[in-house]
Amino acid sequence: MLNSEPYQPDNIFAKILRGELPAHKVFEDDVAVAFLDIMPQSPGHTLVVPKLASRGLLDFPADGWGPFMGRVQLVAAAVKKGMDAEGLSVRQFEGAAGGQTVFHLHFHVLPRWEGVALRRHADSVEKPDVLKAHAAKIRAAF
Ligand code: 5GP
Repeated sequence: MLNSEPYQPDNIFAKILRGELPAHKVFEDDVAVAFLDIMPQSPGHTLVVPKLASRGLLDFPADGWGPFMGRVQLVAAAVKKGMDAEGLSVRQFEGAAGGQTVFHLHFHVLPRWEGVALRRHADSVEKPDVLKAHAAKIRAAF
């Protein structure tokens, strides 16, 4: 085990994966689910979450990266197109000291525009109507 803490199946993203909590989903297949971050750092901020359970990058199975990163790329393309973004920032926070707050591996896909700063990480909750509208734009871009 490369990550010292055990995986906890009661984390928020595991609950979303099991359908126990709602999310504004934009993509789902057998490998990954992608949904909007409820506290977006930029409009259309999307989280890509593998169905394989791991706390983070260090304990994710080595043979899972190919399929999973393929989904990150697929979702990133739809986020950029759907939000009409000029660029993207793709981020992953590892461990509490690294800024991680939900301990099921995920990648952040953040739409970017020239000269527009990101909002603070996990700061303020967006209105459901706004998340719904952005999810519809991204879904339509696959
Ligand atoms: P981390 O800090 O672990 O890299 O990122 C966790 C992200 O999950 C944060 O950006 C935070 O805004 C987001 N988040 C926290 N709770 C929920 C939730 O219940 N639903 C969704 N969709 N996102 C959440």
